Amino acid sequence: MKYDYLIVGAGLYGAVFAREMTDRGKKCLVIEKRDHIAGNIYTEEVDGIYVHRYGAHIFHTSDKNIWEYVNRYAEFNQYINSPVAVYGDELYNLPFNMNTFSKMWGIRTPAQAKEIIEKQIEEAGITEPANLEEQAISLVGTDVYEKLIKGYTRKQWGRECTELPAFIIKRLPLRFTYDNNYFNDRYQGIPMNGYTDMVEKMLDGIEVRLNTDYFSVRGEIEADKTVYTGPIDEYFGYQLGHLQYRSLRFETEELDCDNYQGNAVVNYTSADVPYTRIIEHKHFNFGKQPVTVITREYSSEWTPGEEPYYPVNDRRNTDLYHQYQLLAEKEPDLIFGGRLGQYQYFDMDKVIASALNCVALQK
Ligand code: FAD
Ligand code: UDP
Repeated sequence: MKYDYLIVGAGLYGAVFAREMTDRGKKCLVIEKRDHIAGNIYTEEVDGIYVHRYGAHIFHTSDKNIWEYVNRYAEFNQYINSPVAVYGDELYNLPFNMNTFSKMWGIRTPAQAKEIIEKQIEEAGITEPANLEEQAISLVGTDVYEKLIKGYTRKQWGRECTELPAFIIKRLPLRFTYDNNYFNDRYQGIPMNGYTDMVEKMLDGIEVRLNTDYFSVRGEIEADKTVYTGPIDEYFGYQLGHLQYRSLRFETEELDCDNYQGNAVVNYTSADVPYTRIIEHKHFNFGKQPVTVITREYSSEWTPGEEPYYPVNDRRNTDLYHQYQLLAEKEPDLIFGGRLGQYQYFDMDKVIASALNCVALQK
C-alpha cells in the first residue's frame, strides 16, 4: 500500500491535516505512538466527568472560520474561563482586572487602579521592556508582579522572569473593567462530549495506527510526503543539539465530594507551593456528579524520555530552531507541523489555522 501522506501524530494538527487531505481525495495514514488519538487535547471519561489528561484545554479564538470549523466536529458549551489565583492566604481573580486590583489595593475605580499602577511603573523606571519581568511590571506594576506573576512564572518555566521573552505575559489580558474572562477572543467554549470525540469525528474513515512510533517504522511505510508533528530536533536525531522544552507531571485523584474548589482552574502563584495549578475537571462542563476529579500540575525541565509540552521560545532556542528549519528545507517531501514540529507556543486555534494553511499549499 502506498500513501499520499504519512502523518506522524494523531493530535489536532495531524487530525485536521488528515481530514482535509482525505476530503481532497488523498490517501492518508496517521500513526501515533500513544495508545490513543487526540494528542494533548485527549479527554477521557471518569464517572461522567471529562478529564483533560494532559492539562486543562479551553477552546478560544477570534477567527470565525476556525470557530465554524471546530463546530463541524463538536458541539461547544458556553464555558468561559475565569481562573482564580491563590497567593498565601489571599485569593485573586484572573486575568488582571478591576476585581484583582480592588482586592489587592482596596480600591474601586479604574482611575484609582491606574494611578497606583502608573506610580509603580514609574518607580521601576522601565522604558523599553526587554524581558518578561520588565514587560509584566510595565503592564501591571510591582505588587501584581510580585504576588501573581513572579513565583508562578518561575515554577512554570524554571527560569527567572528576566531570562524569559516578554511575549509570554502578553498572552494574558489586562483590563480596567470588572471582567474575569481569561481571554479576549470572540468565541470560547469546551466540546460537550469531550475533545477526544471531536478528534475522532475529524479522523472518521481515516486509517490510524496507534502504539506506532515513527522511529520504529521509519522507511517501512511508503508515502509521497510525511507530515511530522513530533519535536523537530528529535526527527533529526538531535544532530544540532537539543531544543529545550518544559515537561509536566499530572497528579490526578478522584475525590468523594461534589465540589472541591468551586472553580475549574485555581493557580498557585507563590514559589513555595510545588504545583502551578489545580484543575477540577467537572466545572468545564458544569458537571453535577456526586464525585469530582482534580489534577495538580507540576512543571519541570524536559529531559529525554519525558513528554515535551511547552517549547521554550527564548533566543538560544529560537536560533537553534531556525537551524533545524534549514535542515528541514532540504527535504521537500517533509512537512513539520504543530506545537512541537514548529516549536511554537501555539494554542489550538493557531494549530488548526497552521494545518489549514499547509493544506492550502498542497498540490
Ligand atoms: P500534540 O497534541 O502534541 O500532538 C502530537 C502527537 O504526535 C502526540 O499525540 C504525540 O504522541 C505524537 N507523536 C510525537 N512523536 C511521535 C512519533 N515519533 N511517532 C508517533 N507519534 C508521535 N490550547 C488552547 O487553545 N487552549 C488551552 O486552554 C490550552 N491549554 C493547554 C494546556 C497545557 C498544559 C498544554 C501543554 C497545552 C495547552 N494548549 C491549549 C495547547 C494545545 O495543547 C496545543 O495547541 C495542541 O494540542 C497541539 O496539537 P499538536 O497536534 O501540535 O500536538
Ligand atoms: N502567568 C502568571 N500567573 C498566573 C497565570 C499566568 O504569571 O497566574 C504567566 C506565566 O508566565 C504563564 C503565562 O502567564 O506562563 C501564560 O499563562 P497561560 O495561562 O496562558 O499559560 P498556559 O495555560 O499556556 O500554561
